[in-house]
Formats: sequence, structure tokens, C-alpha cells
Amino acid sequence: MNDNQKIAELIFPGGISTDEILKRYPNRNLKHGQEVTRFAPSPTGFMHIGNFFPAFISYNIAKQSDGVFYLRFEDTDSKREIKEAKNVIYQVLERFNIFPDEFQTLDGKDVGNYGPYVQSQRVDIYRAFAKKLVAEGKAFPCFCKKTEGKEDVLKLRESKFQQDDEKEYDPCRNMTFDEIKTHIDNGESFAIRLKTKNDGSQRVKFYDLIKGEIEAKANSKDFILLKNDGVPPYAFAHAIDDTLMGTTIVVRGEEYISSTPMHIELFEALGFKPICYCHNPLIWKIDESGSKRKISKRKDPEADMRYYFSEGYPIESVLEYLLNLINSGFEIWRKQNPDLPWSEYKFGIKDITTVAPVFDLIKLNDIAKNVIAFQSGERLYQNWLNWAKEFDLPLSQLLERQKEKFIKLCSMERDNCIKPRKDIFNYKMMKSYFVYAFDRPQINNLDENFKEFIKVYLESFVMPKSNEEWFEHIKKVAGENGFAIDNKLYKQNPQDYKGNIAKACLYARYAITGQESGPSLYYIIDALGEEETRERLAKIQEI
Ligand code: GLU
Repeated sequence: MNDNQKIAELIFPGGISTDEILKRYPNRNLKHGQEVTRFAPSPTGFMHIGNFFPAFISYNIAKQSDGVFYLRFEDTDSKREIKEAKNVIYQVLERFNIFPDEFQTLDGKDVGNYGPYVQSQRVDIYRAFAKKLVAEGKAFPCFCKKTEGKEDVLKLRESKFQQDDEKEYDPCRNMTFDEIKTHIDNGESFAIRLKTKNDGSQRVKFYDLIKGEIEAKANSKDFILLKNDGVPPYAFAHAIDDTLMGTTIVVRGEEYISSTPMHIELFEALGFKPICYCHNPLIWKIDESGSKRKISKRKDPEADMRYYFSEGYPIESVLEYLLNLINSGFEIWRKQNPDLPWSEYKFGIKDITTVAPVFDLIKLNDIAKNVIAFQSGERLYQNWLNWAKEFDLPLSQLLERQKEKFIKLCSMERDNCIKPRKDIFNYKMMKSYFVYAFDRPQINNLDENFKEFIKVYLESFVMPKSNEEWFEHIKKVAGENGFAIDNKLYKQNPQDYKGNIAKACLYARYAITGQESGPSLYYIIDALGEEETRERLAKIQEI
């Protein structure tokens, strides 16, 4: 045993060897082109769109290659962990229908052969690899008390090894076996640091699947592999996990580019094949003042993926919007293929945008309007009801009690319609969109002809059986009561009429709904029913 091996055994006696671990994780039997991707969230209680974005890209890469998409919880930072967080992540993935093929269930069962899929359950693995690096002289124990997670303090420390600013060598890097033994015998805790082989003069090149070749200063810092509590920070844990779990492409936000040189040195030290990275641009937002900034969890409610549930956006509209952000070619494809599900859209990694996309709620709403426009009335009613059951219980009870009426309202100008209406973009807005179906409207007198027309309209009112029949009837009443049926004639001599037929229709619509535009009034009358329509018309004489 050489000194390094002796140190390794002293600080980590016994334990499983890396060879045994490697046997537990055989290579995946992938066919040519199959990719293994993952979503590796830290369960901090929030599902940020900035995390969902690479997860969705990863999902697509795996599915499009008939590969594997797995979920790994990076829960090594117990201080930031929130109890409900894992639940939220499962819920979001499930609802957005991008559920992983491999994962650990909430009650702790691993689905897939490369688990455990939760980092806090992999501590023995990290320890084994740390031990191996120490035995090879590539890592060392560090007894400085300030090492718990805080690496920056190194810079401040006086050290005979720190000869210039370029390298950040730790004072413990060359301790002898005896020195280490003294610390261990004193019962001191220690962190494990990488003994960087660089001195600050080297550069490193790596290939990013989205951004191409990137050149940067090589790592020259003795960074932490295991903290004093034996738990690894992100860099060490992901290098081991992504390798053992057979990840072929790591998609992650571009904030990780600056630490990639560290990761590259780590893969090399561990003797692992370098992994393919794909750093996606972050999502930006233009705020009220017109300035561009990163979408923020504090300022932007839409940064939380649960926002789309509570607002009642159809999930496919959000996914389609994100596909648009990933690759603008999606919009063209969608126009050419209005009936295909989004999942039929194929894009290559090279198609992923290199430009930071800007989140635009108006664009999302446009997509959502389109998605909702193609739902049948029954389906829209059901989706609205499902939404209400979760977010507005009294509304859901009403929707159930008056099912027939609301299905009719939801079906207006949509079922069997070549150009369905495109004015609803989420289920939450439907209550105000159909406000007249819940309450009788507050009506003001529009002008001197309004009450008079509604009076004659009510006197001759017959429940219409079709849109045509309704229109023929109102036309007749209007014509007989001083309104122009022919718009040309009206335009020539407007003074001869009380208004045109559009005006008469507006009076009727306003009296019944309190609104001045909307779907053909026939459908609203049909949904409200004869009695209610008559009562609303009668009420006008009271104003
Ligand atoms: N746990 C990291 C995060 O939540 C994952 C980064 C990665 O995907 O590698 O940011």
C-alpha cells in the first residue's frame, strides 16, 4: 500500500469498492441513436419554468430517439429541501404528460435498474469514488473548518501553497499520512477536495451540443467533492450519477457552462468517458419598464409551473408554447399540421434555439385559444368542470347542476363549425366570459329606441329552433318597427330609420346578456331557455 492508499483506508475504512459498484450499473443496451436523458431537480418546493424547460427538451430527445428519460432527485442540499417538493415535481410531470420511464416512487420504490434515483440514498457510492480518488492521489481530505459548502473562503485564506490568484490550492492538499492521522485521531471531520492537476495556465475545450465548441480556462481549484457531512455537492454527484445511470446527453441550463471545466476535470480524474452536454439558454422576460431580465420566481407567477394549472391552461398549450421557444420551426409545422398532436413534432438538438427566448404571455394565450377552439363543447365543459373541481368548488357544483345549459354554452360556435371562435384561453376566464349565464346582467338604458324595441320583440317572441329562424324573426320584428333591413338603404338615408338590423340585434343581445358582442344570440337564448329569456326581456321595461 502506498501513502495515498493508506490515507484512503484511514479516512474511509472498508466500504464497497468502485469495481463492485460499476458491476451494479452495466452499460445500457442501446441501439444506435437511442438517447438516455434525465431530469435532475433539486426538491426545493417549486417547479420553475427554467427547470421544466430542460426537462421538456430532455423528454423530447429521449422520446424522439426511442430512448429513456429518467428522473433523479438531487436532494443533497438538505437545508434547501422542502417536504412537499417531490410531490410537486411528480404532479407537474404527470399532468404535463412527460412522466419519466425510470424514477423512484414516493414510497421509495425504484422503477428502473439504475437506482436509487434519489441522491441522498447514494452516499455510499459517492464515498467509494471519493475513496478511490484519494487512493490515486487525485483527491485529499481537508480539515479546514470553513469547508462546509463554502468554497469561496479559500481565496481569503493565507496559504503557502497559494502563490498567485490563478490557482486555488487548498492548504491541506499535501498533508502527510501522519498529519492526517493526527486529525483523524482527534475526531475531526473533513471534507474531500479534488487535487487539481492544473495551475491556472491551462485552457480546456469542450463541445456543447447546442452552442458548439467552447474554450475556457481549465479548472485550477481544489474544489469540494464531499462536504464534511459526507454528502457531495452537485459537481461530484452528477458526474458519478450521470455516468453510472448511462446518461448520454445532459441537458441543463446555461448557468452551468462556467462550471463545466470543473466537471471535465472531474470526469477525467474519475476515468469516466466525457459526457455530452447540451446547455439550453435561459428564459427571459420583458418587464413593465421594458427592460429584459431573467424570468423570476419572485416577480413572475408564470415562472411556477403550477400557475398553468391554477389558471386553467390546457397543458398542451403550455407544451406547444415551450416547443415554440425551443425551436421557432414548430410554429410552421403547427400551421401545416393543425390536427396532429404536438408529440409528432420532431426536432434535432441542433434545432434548439441558441438565443435566449423571451416569455410572452400573449403568445401563450394565442396558442391556448387555438387549442381550446378545437375542443368540442362537451370536452370544453368537462375540462372547465375538472378545473373548477380543483380551484373553484362552488362553481363546479353549479356546473354540474346545470350541465345541459353549460354544455350548450360551451358548444356555441364551435361544434361542427369550420371557423370556431377563438376567444377563450384558459378555464379560469370562462366564468367571466359566460357571466350572463350566472347572473342576470345589470342593464342601463342604451337610448330612446332600446326599451321600445325590446317591448315589441318580447311581445312577438317565439323560442327559435335554429340560428336562421332566430335571425329571420328578429329581422321581421325590426323591419316592422322602423329599422332598416337593407344596409344599403340605411346608409343612403339613415335619418329615415331607428337603426339598422345590427342595431336591433345589439339591443336584444344587450338586454339578454348585458354584452355588446359575442356568439350568435340564438345559442345563448337556446342555452338560457325560453322562460329566462322572456324574463330578461321583460325586466327591460323596469329600467
Ligand atoms: N439539480 C440541478 C438543478 O436543479 C440539476 C442540474 C442538471 O440538470 O444537471 O439545477
